Amino acid sequence: MPLELNDVFVTPDSSLEVDECFVYDDLSAEGEQLVVSPVKVSGRVTNIGGLVELTYTAEFKYAKPCDRCLTIAEKTMKREFLHTLALSVENEDSDDIIIVTGYTLDLFSLVRDDILLELPIKHLCSETCLGLCPKCGQNLNEGKCGCQKEAADPRMAVLDELLQD
Ligand SMILES: [Zn+2]
Ligand SMILES: [Zn+2]
Repeated sequence: MPLELNDVFVTPDSSLEVDECFVYDDLSAEGEQLVVSPVKVSGRVTNIGGLVELTYTAEFKYAKPCDRCLTIAEKTMKREFLHTLALSVENEDSDDIIIVTGYTLDLFSLVRDDILLELPIKHLCSETCLGLCPKCGQNLNEGKCGCQKEAADPRMAVLDELLQD
C-alpha cells in the first residue's frame, strides 16, 4: 500500500504518522523462511523546513538455523531506520535519498529492503551454544556424546600437557 505524501511535501513543518503491519510471505534465503512474523512498522514522515525525512522502527521475528548446532533458532529484531525523501535528485551521487514519484512512497518494498540488509549474518541459538560434535554430529547442547575421550590420540594428550605448562 503506497504512502500518500502530498500533504507532507507541500506543507512545511508538517508530519505524518506511519503505523503499519506488513506480512512478507515470500521472504526466504535458500529456501529457508527468514521472517516468521508480521513486521510492525511505526514512525513518521516529517517536513522540517522543506527537508522531508522518514524515521521508523521495524519489529519482527525471524528464524534461521544456528551457525553452530543447525537448530532453527527464532529471534526478535527491532531496528530504527532513517531515510531522506525527495521528489527528484539534482545530484546523481545522492544514493542515500529515496525518490518519491508522484508523492507516493512504496513503504512495503522499502521496509522489505531495509530489514533484509539488517538481518545479521552471524546467527547463534545462544551465545553459549556448544555446537555439534565434529565426529558423530551429536548436538552437544542436548548432552555429551562421549566421542572426545575415546578418540583422543595419546600423543596429542602429551602435547596437551606440554601446552598447559
Ligand atoms: Zn546453536
Ligand atoms: Zn561425538
